[in-house]
Amino acid sequence: ADKVEMTDPAIWEVIRKEGQRQEDQIELIASENYASPAVMEVQGSVLTNKYAEGYPGKRYYGGCEFVDQAEALAKERALELFCKLCGVEMAVNVQPHSGAQANMAVFFGLLNPGDTVMGMSLAEGGHLSHGMKLNMSGKWFNIVSYGLNEKEEIDYDAVEKLALANKPKLIIAGASAYSLRIDFKRFGEIAHKVGAYLMVDMAHYAGLVAAGVYPSPFPYADIVTTTTHKTLRGPRGGMIFCRPDLEKSINMAVFPGIQGGPLMHVIAAKAVALHEALQPAYKEYQKQVIRNAAVMAEELSKRGLRIVSGRTESHVMLVDLRSKNITGKEAENILHEIGITVNKNSIPNDPQKPFVTSGIRIGSPAMTTRGFKEEEAREVASLIADVLDHPHDEAVLANVKDAVASLVARFPVYRQTV
Ligand code: PLP
Repeated sequence: ADKVEMTDPAIWEVIRKEGQRQEDQIELIASENYASPAVMEVQGSVLTNKYAEGYPGKRYYGGCEFVDQAEALAKERALELFCKLCGVEMAVNVQPHSGAQANMAVFFGLLNPGDTVMGMSLAEGGHLSHGMKLNMSGKWFNIVSYGLNEKEEIDYDAVEKLALANKPKLIIAGASAYSLRIDFKRFGEIAHKVGAYLMVDMAHYAGLVAAGVYPSPFPYADIVTTTTHKTLRGPRGGMIFCRPDLEKSINMAVFPGIQGGPLMHVIAAKAVALHEALQPAYKEYQKQVIRNAAVMAEELSKRGLRIVSGRTESHVMLVDLRSKNITGKEAENILHEIGITVNKNSIPNDPQKPFVTSGIRIGSPAMTTRGFKEEEAREVASLIADVLDHPHDEAVLANVKDAVASLVARFPVYRQTV
């Protein structure tokens, strides 16, 4: 009788419908994934009740002996996954509530307001927490943005020139919509030449990095921030890795700097996700993520769509829709109607406003989790192209809708809705 279904049918209905939507739609939002039932179970556990301000062994509350173990395990596994294998000694803080919070803690811990920071411009693939003018980072710091060259690759030479000219205290590498491998070594050289910290925000690439299918920033970065819910496939949240000598500042910045009590249920779920990421099957999964993205890029190109930067070397790609005379906003809406979820995204030098855009961003992590391989990835790309070729042809849309329905029916995400 105390089931939510009985006590709060309104919210139960929301969860049921969202669960059905996640089953029924092909999820191509590059920053999303399907967490495992174990990760979700832990997030719904009694750990949600516990206050544990402070760090393991040094808490401001009693009764933390068990949640201490959860946090210690999360830290241990994070370091094993990302640092041990490449022989880099780092410290980790697993308490940030989200990726934006992780980045904010680094700003708060290592910089003073007004300091100069370099980050990738939002319009060319960066994240808003890297200096967008409405974000705390952009309001309180002197931001120098860098972007892409004429080949739509990160313009490392320009980054170097800007760094020499502006002497930033922090350089941020990392992006939300950049499909190529980032040269973290080059970023490290540039940062250290001008006496800046290099912070890599690997939020988008973390799972790929863990599996060794995308370059690791750990040998070059002073700080690495990440989310835990994108390619990594854990609960929503953030983590900060840093050089051991920066640990105290970073810990102080997270708590008591910008957060109060850590979310122990989420930290325990991070531990579970990190354990999953240490299993052999995870490597195979991430390899498939890359293969699926590559196949989609190839098929979309064949169908006359331009992939920004020419290709993808990761889980994500930006598709330039101008050849089809359709905006990102329209494409997102029509694809949603037939059961494919993407997000509109500005392309470099986009003639359209950010709320309209000329592009869509496509990612393969979620569809790969539900079991899609190359054959299905190619079919999905081909269905997208069909829609973009005939966005107002009801017969085409009906056919695509049927094809999507039969694909998702063959690959259920969760055997039963949570
Ligand atoms: N950093 C990057 C590169 C991201 O792409 C994102 C989210 O999309 C974030 C940080 C922020 O993460 P969150 O939404 O958890 O605050």
